[in-house]
Amino acid sequence: MTNAPQRLLIKNGTLIDGSGRDPAPNHVVVVEGNRITHVGSADGSVRSETPDDTVIDATGKFIMPGLIDAHCHISLHQGALPGVKYTSSAEFCTLWAAHAIGRVLRAGVTSIAVPGGKWFTDVTVREAVEGGLLEGPRMVVAGRALSNYGGIFDPDPYPAYEGTPNDAAGVLCNTRDEFIRETRKQCKRGVDLIKIADSTWGDVQTVADDEITAVVHEAHRHNVKVAIHSRGSTSTRAAAKAGVDLIYHGDWANERDLDMIAKAGMPIAPVLTSPWLGVEHGAAGRGLGGRVRDRLRAQLDTSFQMIRNARDRGIPILSGSDTGNASAFSHGKWHGKEAELFVTEVGMTPMEAIVANTSGNAAMVNLAGEVGVIAAGKLADLVIWDNDPLADITILQRPAEISLIVKDGRIVDREAGGFRQLSEDPPRARMFLAG
Ligand SMILES: [Zn+2]
Repeated sequence: MTNAPQRLLIKNGTLIDGSGRDPAPNHVVVVEGNRITHVGSADGSVRSETPDDTVIDATGKFIMPGLIDAHCHISLHQGALPGVKYTSSAEFCTLWAAHAIGRVLRAGVTSIAVPGGKWFTDVTVREAVEGGLLEGPRMVVAGRALSNYGGIFDPDPYPAYEGTPNDAAGVLCNTRDEFIRETRKQCKRGVDLIKIADSTWGDVQTVADDEITAVVHEAHRHNVKVAIHSRGSTSTRAAAKAGVDLIYHGDWANERDLDMIAKAGMPIAPVLTSPWLGVEHGAAGRGLGGRVRDRLRAQLDTSFQMIRNARDRGIPILSGSDTGNASAFSHGKWHGKEAELFVTEVGMTPMEAIVANTSGNAAMVNLAGEVGVIAAGKLADLVIWDNDPLADITILQRPAEISLIVKDGRIVDREAGGFRQLSEDPPRARMFLAG
């Protein structure tokens, strides 16, 4: 980490400010401490440079807010490492997470929501980042996902009598009281978010309506948000009725369900990247059989149409990648893919997709109006890209085309943690089909 310079002056770049406004060429962005203090055209209104200033010439480059990923796991999956026997221990899980978090930041992602992980690793990593022990993005984190028998985080091959082991990503809650008890426990431990997990595919609703409502009441009383993995129609309707803060997936939400969501006012994060990866790279990266891939392909097509229907109703669409879900979701690699799918498959403009990945996601990391937009007074999280993401949205998937990352007013050392890439493809890796 470098110390914050007295002033950081970024000159001559094209500003894409995250608000959806047209790009503005030849702009100056001034950072003092951890805030942006001036944004404008190069008209001489900025105090002249001093030797203490750090000056970045962004001629021909593009200044954007740091990306925000509304669905990024840090401790959910650990890859293999030669000589490590128990990769799922709390100790190894924490070290893996500490490694992963830097890779996320160095891909230009300056804030993430973490909807579930093992132990309370993600809370600890968040605290370590906030305390300056680790360099990483701003984090809003959940603990283990609250799931009941048959839910996505009550995975096979564990039989029901075994429950979920301590290193599982889910925790079994099979009564309303158990849901409340686990919510309280996680709130006490410092989560920002409770993740409820319904069934894998949405063909059955595993979590009862009153259980969702009970979690929402309990969490909100602790000022903690609630997100739900919900693919089915009835579970999504129940989540809307209960007043959850975010619905992940929502594939089978029909027009009536979407009307209810629009009225209730919560966003949907479809998380298209994860099934897309399963379809495109499933055989190599996730060991998926053909039947599962066919099902994922059908699910994707359903999701694309659902999201178009949701957009028609003005429901906010958040952008999350599901990075870190399983072996194929390397940290730092896929955060920008959702933006591409929003453009190519859903029909958003590149600017809408950029907004979804910046200011549109800010509320989900509890920083609405503070991050995701480049303007005077905002927190200084920004990325300078070598090429124009409005001309080619896939640029957001290429950290090699980043020339500078600033998080909280500090220039990120992109060489840090430059040790070798770890193997991420153990053949026996467990996968959660986009939990
Ligand atoms: Zn997930």
